[in-house]
Order: sequence, then structure tokens, then C-alpha cells
Amino acid sequence: MLKNIGYAAHDSKTPLVPFNFERREVGAQDVLIEIQYCGVCHSDLHQVRDDWAGSTYPIVPGHEIVGRVLKVGNEVDEFKSGDLAGVGCLVDSCRLCTECNEHLEQFCDSAVFTYNSPDKHTGKMTYGGYSNQIVVDKRFVLRISHRLDLAATAPLLCAGITTYSPLRHWNVGKGDKVGIVGLGGLGHMAVKFAHAFGAHVVLFTTSPGKTEDAKRLGADEIVISKNPDEMKQHLKSLDFILNTVAAAHDLDQYTALLKRDGTMCLVGVPGSPHPSPSIGNLIFKRRSLAGSLIGGLKETQEMLDFCAEHNITSDIELIPIQQINVAFERMLKSDVKYRFVIDLASMETLASQENQESLESLDSGVGAAN
Ligand code: NAP
Ligand code: ZN
Ligand code: ZN
Repeated sequence: MLKNIGYAAHDSKTPLVPFNFERREVGAQDVLIEIQYCGVCHSDLHQVRDDWAGSTYPIVPGHEIVGRVLKVGNEVDEFKSGDLAGVGCLVDSCRLCTECNEHLEQFCDSAVFTYNSPDKHTGKMTYGGYSNQIVVDKRFVLRISHRLDLAATAPLLCAGITTYSPLRHWNVGKGDKVGIVGLGGLGHMAVKFAHAFGAHVVLFTTSPGKTEDAKRLGADEIVISKNPDEMKQHLKSLDFILNTVAAAHDLDQYTALLKRDGTMCLVGVPGSPHPSPSIGNLIFKRRSLAGSLIGGLKETQEMLDFCAEHNITSDIELIPIQQINVAFERMLKSDVKYRFVIDLASMETLASQENQESLESLDSGVGAAN
């Protein structure tokens, strides 16, 4: 087994702390990646705090992983040592069902998520990217371009694909008026993509302080969602809304803004349910309320290639792993601009500190014995 070091939550109430654990040896079809950067998704926080119930501790979160290939198995031709590589929310699936055959592995009933998911190799749970290395089957490893800033590429692996996929699925493009709700990790990527696809983008935010940033990111109009007069100006006018909010809220104020036959797609997964939406709001204009989950491997690669071609990355705040608990607290207050990314080089400091401490304790032990 490979000895790894990461940061883990041991329960829903206490901060993440350093954690030593093991990963499987590199199998014939596996890729071993030295993790350089890992984005901090609100889903990490939901699972660490057990918002969705069913968290199994310890949890090593992190599913926006980029780094360098250290080693490949003898049946891997697609990657070689030294290549850049990425891993998103999925590390395995059944590979046989209709969803897998249609490149929609995220909907496979046997999908294995990057962390907090039963790991058929070890019999334990999977451990994510708040760590120094990861071993992943080659089919679930993405190619990463050298043309983009590597740290700012990490959030594409979840925030990127989660917003790209529904915008593509509902054919958002030129001539569409599109609403994006919430300017956090997902929301700021949604604004960039909707703008790149040629849509007229209206950003709905609860944070007036984000207005200037929203314009810079590609929003054509900004609406403070707490202001009913501003909201009213967009009644029955939007073709599509992508709602990225991480907390329960009134959905009716947004469905009312859709045109006839418009759709609001939810990607946020709050810990408690939204108040029930008004059926009247839906039926009288044949509006739809929908949901979407990340994206399959093929589409994730397509999104990464699109980003390399159009020079799209995430706006990030780079942090050492030691600041992860502070980052979580700021995320809870919507104080993120616009994705925290962990620089895993900070883990080496930790590893060498640990080494030093164990040497010191050895020394003092030796001293005491003397
Ligand atoms: P984030 O960076 O924390 O952004 C969420 C944004 O929602 C905040 O910045 C804030 O934007 C807005 N917001 C927060 N609390 C709010 C409230 N009480 N009322 C109204 N707006 C509020 O989170 P994220 O990483 O983008 O993730 C967003 C959600 O998507 C999470 O629930 C996460 O678990 C989920 N997610 C789903 C998928 C999927 O596949 N479906 C994938 C990844 C993440 P403003 O300041 O602009 O209002
Ligand atoms: Zn995520
Ligand atoms: Zn399957």
C-alpha cells in the first residue's frame, strides 16, 4: 500500500486535521498522480458537516484535483510519468449500464465518487484530493492543458463541468437571456460559460459587493435578489436559469422570471429542502424545474479542451492546506472570490514538520533512555 498524508474531518463538528492513510498500489490500468492543487467545493463542506446525512468518517474531501503523473500501470498508454492530469468527482462506475455506455457515468447506479464513497479496491471509503497523491483508473483521469494556469484549472473539474453541462444540455447560446443565481464557485464559472456561449447573462446575487466582479466575469446585468423592484423588471423574460445557491430559498421568485416554456435547472444541493415551489407558477406558463449532476468523463474532457481554447479558468484564492478550516467558514458567509484552491506544496511542509517532530520525540526518547 502507498502511504499518503492528507487533511481529514473525523466528525461533523471538529476542524479538519492532518491524517495519515494508505492508498492502493498502482494496478495495471491505474495512474498515480502527485496532487499539486485541489479546489474547495461547497460539496466538501456539506459532506464534512454531514449536511446530506450519511457521511462516513474520516473524510478526506477534494474532487477538483490537478497534478503530475508519477507512475502508470503497464496497461496504460494514455498517460506517462510527468504528464499533467486531472481528477474530478468520479473515480469509477460499472462501465456496462446504459448511462455508462452513453458517457453519462455520473448517473450510473454504481458510480464511485472521489471521496466518501465505498472503494471496491480497499473495502474502505474513497479518499479525495486534500492529500499528496491519488491512484485512479485511467478511464477516470482527464488530460490537462499546459496553456492554462494549473491552480486556476483545478476548479474546472467540478465547478466547471457542473455548470458547463446543463448550459450545453439546454442549448444556451446566442439570442438567449439566461439567469445565473449565486456568484460563488459554480456561479462564477456559469457566468463565464454563458457569456462565452454568446447568451445575454443576468446575474442574481445576494451580495451587492460582487457587482463589479460580476461585470468583469461576463454578466450583462446584475440584480440584487433581495430587491423586489429589481426582480420585477425581469418577470417572464428569461429563457433559462441556472441556480447554484447552496442554501434553501424561495424558488418562486425565480420561476416567475421564466418565459413560457422556460426552465430553471437546480445544481445547488442545500442541506435542508427548498420551500415547495408554486405549481401555479409552473403550469400557467408550462415552465420546468430541473436538476443536473456534474458531467460524464467525455463531456468533462470536452469542457477542459473548450477552456484551453478560449482561455477560461477559475478566479481563485490560493491557500495552504493549514487554512482550510478558515476557508470553510468564509464559504459559509458567501465570502469567496471565487474559489479557494489548496496549494498541496504546503503538505510537504507538514510532512517535513511531522518528520522533524517524530525525530525530536525520538531524540527526547533517546535522551530519556540515557
Ligand atoms: P459557493 O462557492 O459557496 O457559492 C454559493 C453561492 O450561493 C454563494 O456565494 C452565494 O452567492 C449564494 N448563496 C449562499 N447562501 C445563500 C442564501 N442563503 N441565499 C441566497 N444565496 C445564497 O458554493 P459552490 O461550491 O458554488 O456550490 C454551490 C452548491 O452547488 C452547493 O450546494 C454544492 O454542494 C452544489 N454542487 C452541486 C453539484 C452538482 O453536480 N449538482 C456540483 C458541485 C456543487 P451570492 O453571494 O452571489 O448570493
Ligand atoms: Zn464539487
Ligand atoms: Zn454504469
